[in-house]
Amino acid sequence: MADRVVTLNAGSSSVKFALFAADADWPRLIVTGAIEGLGAKPRFRVDVVDGEAHDAPLGRKLTHRRAIAAIFEWIEDAYPAAAISAIGHRVVHGGLRFSAPVIVDAETLTALREFIPLAPLHQPHNLAGIEGACEAFPHVPQVACFDTAFHRGHAFVDDAYALPYSYYERGLRRFGFHGLSYEYIARRLRAIDPIHAEGGVIVAHLGNGASLCAMKGGRSIATTMGFSALEGLPMGTRCGEIDPGLLLYLLESEGMTPDELSHLLYERSGLLGLSGLSHDMRALEASEEPRAQAAIAYFIHRTKMEIAALTAVIGGLDALVFTAGIGERSPRVRAGVVEGLAWLGLALDATANARNNPIVSASRSRVPVFVTPTDEEAMIARHTIETAGLSDAGR
Ligand code: ADP
Repeated sequence: MADRVVTLNAGSSSVKFALFAADADWPRLIVTGAIEGLGAKPRFRVDVVDGEAHDAPLGRKLTHRRAIAAIFEWIEDAYPAAAISAIGHRVVHGGLRFSAPVIVDAETLTALREFIPLAPLHQPHNLAGIEGACEAFPHVPQVACFDTAFHRGHAFVDDAYALPYSYYERGLRRFGFHGLSYEYIARRLRAIDPIHAEGGVIVAHLGNGASLCAMKGGRSIATTMGFSALEGLPMGTRCGEIDPGLLLYLLESEGMTPDELSHLLYERSGLLGLSGLSHDMRALEASEEPRAQAAIAYFIHRTKMEIAALTAVIGGLDALVFTAGIGERSPRVRAGVVEGLAWLGLALDATANARNNPIVSASRSRVPVFVTPTDEEAMIARHTIETAGLSDAGR
């Protein structure tokens, strides 16, 4: 039997998991699920490939550790023969040090804790996931896979802020995120269209979190997120690009505290802040409220602008890829962005776009436009298999 690996993605209010078989070519998904609503009314949701789906309440509040214990208990009950050979974890921040996945030991865990101030909303939960899994499976390799790693190695001009140079040396740089998604898409594009994949490609990861990555030869050259996951595109509840002078004004003249400012920028801004209605693109698209429409227009506008800027960075565009919830399923957002880039030679096939087809550009388009579902879990599983040395599994 092929080795089995579990992936864990521990966020603020949920722990997502997946069980894969370490097949030789690519990890094969067996079951995926999540415990959601940890702080309030948790639910355990499971989706078995070619099998049944379950969704059941779990009683009262759960800690991350108890959620992880419940997940492993469920896996062991449902798949008694599923000896787990390795566990892969999504970790949002690997700082300057980690440019590849790594097997976690005590020293690594200490280093990862040092990045908590760099990603306070995500890193502590990711690390709680690792600690919980170490407790449940102390003898199984735990592999940390980083959202920042794919972006390490950017040129100075794409990595630095124009602060005194000593800040750059201290590591106050543009790290970028969504790296596991971009790495997956780079691999998929190589399979779908190997010629364009080698050129200048921009991937638009448009979900609740949203960013763009400009690649050449399948490697990240630049990305819109920076030091934190706030920079770049507007998102569900995050502001995206903003004048730092405005933040100084809020702190100094309006007496906002750092906590209030953080809450404003991470939780109350973006699509939710602009619309006053929802962070959810589906809800905005369904609404006739002018502010909902203005929020969508802003999202499209900034996405178009940033694609144009990144096109300059990579010296021309050979392919554009949309992915994540909005990128994969919103014909309206894709149409707005692609039509706004007609001057770059992009042209949309309206029927293909309305159907969310894998290719939504017209045959006359100078640049192909793809809609490619992302799969961060499979990417984590792949890294876990390789890093734990299971890559000859599935014999
Ligand atoms: P996350 O960053 O949390 O993983 P997702 O990638 O799941 O987020 O994307 C969530 C976003 O995708 C939400 O704004 C949601 O409204 C949007 N979305 C999902 N399906 C559709 C759809 N059919 N049309 C428009 N937007 C959609």
